[in-house]
Amino acid sequence: MADERLFGGIELGGTKTVFAIGTGDGTIMARHTVATRAPEAVMADAAAFFAGSGHSLSALGVGAFGPIVIDRKAADYGRLCDTNKPGWSGFDLIGALAQAIALPVHLVTDVGAAGIGEARLGALRWHDIGVYLTIGTGIGGAIIVGGKVLPALLHPEMGHIALQRLPGDDAPSTCSFHDNCAEGLAAGPAISARFGKSLDHFAPTDPEFLMIADYLGQLCCQLVLTLSPQRIVLGGGVAGAPGLVPAVQRAMVRHLGGYAPGAVADQDYLTPPALGQDAGITGALVCAGEAIRATA
Ligand SMILES: [Zn+2]
Repeated sequence: MADERLFGGIELGGTKTVFAIGTGDGTIMARHTVATRAPEAVMADAAAFFAGSGHSLSALGVGAFGPIVIDRKAADYGRLCDTNKPGWSGFDLIGALAQAIALPVHLVTDVGAAGIGEARLGALRWHDIGVYLTIGTGIGGAIIVGGKVLPALLHPEMGHIALQRLPGDDAPSTCSFHDNCAEGLAAGPAISARFGKSLDHFAPTDPEFLMIADYLGQLCCQLVLTLSPQRIVLGGGVAGAPGLVPAVQRAMVRHLGGYAPGAVADQDYLTPPALGQDAGITGALVCAGEAIRATA
């Protein structure tokens, strides 16, 4: 018999937050999007949406921007670490959700939720191990194994892997921690600082475009060598620039120098998210079922 329980999902992003009601297989029945403001305002929005829906919900799945402690055994589980989002540093998200919406909660990162969504219904559906990489205002990633996010000390920070700068590239890194990391060289703010406009203003043959593709190809090369994933999904606003995904794949293959399984050259080894912008909220709904299993 089909599971007819209804779940709540929250995708807490850096600029917008999506609330949804749906089923554990990721089917979305209702949704509402708000701007991510101060945490108290977003919690009030969440309480209003879920209480006002008229549905009886069994659990809540949450994908949240980070850094955030997602280890359920940690004393500070569910707390945001230092972040440049005003009001969110140190915020006790799990405690606030317990007050606003009294439901069992399963928490993952926003990129983890997107990866789970792709694993359940999208581009990672037929793969045992995959990586979901988001390239937007920052670069984040999640390692998905058997449909679940690989547990970690905090969560992977693959956007801060160091890259080799191209000859003549002396643009300042936009990462305040590292001079040569992927995020500091090739995320959205780095692209705007370098070129004064976003990547979708360039043609795939332009040197500016090829520079960013090279850096992201280096990052994917490192992921192939470390994790040997069967597929890597490239999401986020920067990755949506027309022609970027195949250009990154060519750069990745070049940097691997022939030292990798032949599958990395397959069309769609690097791929956009099949669920598009719904990957994260879909994954949040799928995660909600974990909250019930954890308390059973
Ligand atoms: Zn960095």
